[in-house]
Amino acid sequence: HWLRLPNRWDVPVEICAGPGVPLEPAAVDEALSLLETADTLARLAEATGFDGPEPRITRVVLTPDLHKGAGIPIGTVLETENALLPQAVGNDVNCGMRLEVTSLRADRVRSRLDRLEKRLRHLFFEGGRRVALTPAQREALLREGLPGLLLTGDTPWRGLQPTDADDAVDRAHLPWFPARTAEAFADWIGSAGGASYDSIIGGIGGGNHFVELQYVSEVHDPAAAHAWGLTPGTVVLMAHSGSLSLGHQANGTALDLLRAGWPAGLPRPRNGILPFLPGERTEAARRRYLDAFANAANFALGNRFFLALTMRAGLAAEYGELTSRPLYDAPHNLFWPDGDRTVHRKGATPAGGHAETAGGPHALWGEPVIVPGSMGASSFVLRGHGNPRSLASACHGAGRRVPRGATARGGDAELDAFLREFRIVTPLDHRDPLVARRSDVMAAWRRDLKQEAPWAYKDIGPVVSSLAAGGVATPVAELRPLLTVKG
Ligand code: 5GP
Ligand code: MN
Ligand code: MN
Repeated sequence: HWLRLPNRWDVPVEICAGPGVPLEPAAVDEALSLLETADTLARLAEATGFDGPEPRITRVVLTPDLHKGAGIPIGTVLETENALLPQAVGNDVNCGMRLEVTSLRADRVRSRLDRLEKRLRHLFFEGGRRVALTPAQREALLREGLPGLLLTGDTPWRGLQPTDADDAVDRAHLPWFPARTAEAFADWIGSAGGASYDSIIGGIGGGNHFVELQYVSEVHDPAAAHAWGLTPGTVVLMAHSGSLSLGHQANGTALDLLRAGWPAGLPRPRNGILPFLPGERTEAARRRYLDAFANAANFALGNRFFLALTMRAGLAAEYGELTSRPLYDAPHNLFWPDGDRTVHRKGATPAGGHAETAGGPHALWGEPVIVPGSMGASSFVLRGHGNPRSLASACHGAGRRVPRGATARGGDAELDAFLREFRIVTPLDHRDPLVARRSDVMAAWRRDLKQEAPWAYKDIGPVVSSLAAGGVATPVAELRPLLTVKG
């Protein structure tokens, strides 16, 4: 279940993928070309008389959902010493999955899906939600994350009420990223209402991002499932979203700084992947990037919280009082510095075991690993084993089977069958007869939806089996979709 990819740089590059998991050769090539950066780093000392601690790429792990990205594949875990690579995190900084366990049962939710769908369309797409932060709250969110925002006291979102459980879970256990400033986003912080990010906050983000209601269809690890509240028939809420455009801005800033500060005489790696190098000379640039990165990462965690609150508001309006308890929020585009060593994950999720979760609420069972399949397939919750071979990382989904765009043509009969079986909520109400008559609008809508269709993704079964067989994480519960909101 583990495959080692030979390379002339002798960097350990391993992929965890068992039978039934297709691997795109272009993605594997892309992963190996990452090592050209290792080559550059090795030449650093001679080229410039560089005197900082030696930067190195020490290890690469590829997850079973590996597919081609722009420069670095989605599904790459990169371990470095004394080097930080913004591109190994991806542009959607802190994209991640939040999972909440509700007090609702599947049959109850299923009985009123039509009405729920209307409410959710209104809340998510027709101005029903409004998250308006004061300048002080914006700054608290960007610099001190969700805990900082919750500490400001009042609730800035109309009709969206956090609960004591949020407070306990989000403030006590969810990570946040300390930032000295929020300078990179000063125009948003200082602006009085309506400006830039106010219009996108609380949004899903389009494409592969979603807010989904699922139910526990099967339990694989009864003890852990019981501990996490994942009993058969329980409805859970999964939110997948990132930092909207803040991450792109942070990474854009990073690349400008890197290109401007690249040592004269040192060749740039052909792959275009540039690291922040250690040393006094580059410290100011690195700090600026780290602040903007932390701001974006905090924003993303906050936004997933707002998405969950929005879904909860729809559920409460339709089914009456409910509880919804966050089980976990798992970032999959992020780096984790630890002394000189940094683990970067681009489209890969942490899968810590007892050691990595010591002292926290998940120390007993390991870190919850959230692996979504697609809007027409099962998703899984697993528990991590902190396997050093995988750099304590797992895949963050099933992964694309075909590149984006390649699914747009054909497959109309499949799409119709899919739409009869699954409940998809988009800004456009495709079952409204007035909408259905607009063939141009419908054609564009169908084209977009096909990009995200179940057949665009790998089969989730063999992907999850690879994780178990590779000693990375074992399944706790299987989830089936009830309703998917797609931005
Ligand atoms: P990414 O973060 O790379 O955009 O996507 C993560 C994974 O989410 C994809 O590889 C895919 O397996 C899964 N996925 C995409 N759309 C949906 C959806 O609508 N529902 C569920 N449950 N999973 C999805
Ligand atoms: Mn994303
Ligand atoms: Mn993502």
